[in-house]
Amino acid sequence: MKIIRTINEMTNKIKELSHETIGFVATMGFLHEGHLSLVRKAKEENDLVVMSIFVNPLQFGPNEDFEEYPRNEEQDTDIAEKAGIDVLFMPTVKEMYPEELAIKMTIEKGTDVLCGRSRPGHFDGVGTVLTKLFHIIEPNYAYFGLKDAQQFAIVHNLVRQLNFPLQVVGLPTIREADGLAKSSRNVNLSDRERAEAKQLYKSLQYAQKLLVDGIKNPDIIKAEVQKMLQKETNGIIDYIEILSFPNLGQISTIKEQIIIAVAVQFEQARLIDNILLQADGTKIDRL
Ligand code: AMP
Repeated sequence: MKIIRTINEMTNKIKELSHETIGFVATMGFLHEGHLSLVRKAKEENDLVVMSIFVNPLQFGPNEDFEEYPRNEEQDTDIAEKAGIDVLFMPTVKEMYPEELAIKMTIEKGTDVLCGRSRPGHFDGVGTVLTKLFHIIEPNYAYFGLKDAQQFAIVHNLVRQLNFPLQVVGLPTIREADGLAKSSRNVNLSDRERAEAKQLYKSLQYAQKLLVDGIKNPDIIKAEVQKMLQKETNGIIDYIEILSFPNLGQISTIKEQIIIAVAVQFEQARLIDNILLQADGTKIDRL
């Protein structure tokens, strides 16, 4: 595995390595099975796989956890190598942003809901860094986890509407045995919070059951999820939303593909989770 830290070296490497297609997995590191599921699919579908590890300051708000975000370069390098990554791109903040940015992406649609509403500017930061990474790495396929479904929807629009010559692939959320979605941030949960955190997915499964049972009114389902989360966790509920997907529009009755999403703020970690469902409650796993 080649480790690369500069943009110049990265663009040269891409030119130098012979390949049919490049599969790209963008991450913020502290790698876990969720990331590796994307790598596996990228390896299946491409002959060159590039991963980036970059904790992007642009997508963190002033009171968010940029400093506390877990990092472990040595462990990540080891995991990436074992996973069969061909090129690991690990630039510094200075390398990516050597000067104050005169130009940034502004995401116009789909940011007034879910994490976009709670984290103003977050998706502009995501859009900006991915624009840079897509230009530097020139992938044919970019793999994203549906755990971050809003990110997937926004990146999909970015690529389609601004004509990036690549395809975005969305893959299912990988979970711990008790259902908690794997996340780098899970290490920042206290023991008690870790025990409570499984309730996020449990509440989503309960919501799915209500839909399967024929409840089509999103307000009724949201109220039930809220009751369950309030009873079973001490975290602060940031949002519980049911929206059309991938448009992320408000709906008054469930009759199309939807996302049911929750975000809960624990002491040191904000956790998000979602499920994507057909109108009849059937789960959607890949987009
Ligand atoms: P992150 O390092 O958290 O920015 O995540 C990098 C990529 O991995 C994103 O496309 C995430 O959606 C994806 N990812 C993170 N956690 C999971 C998970 N539990 N299952 C599947 N994909 C995930």
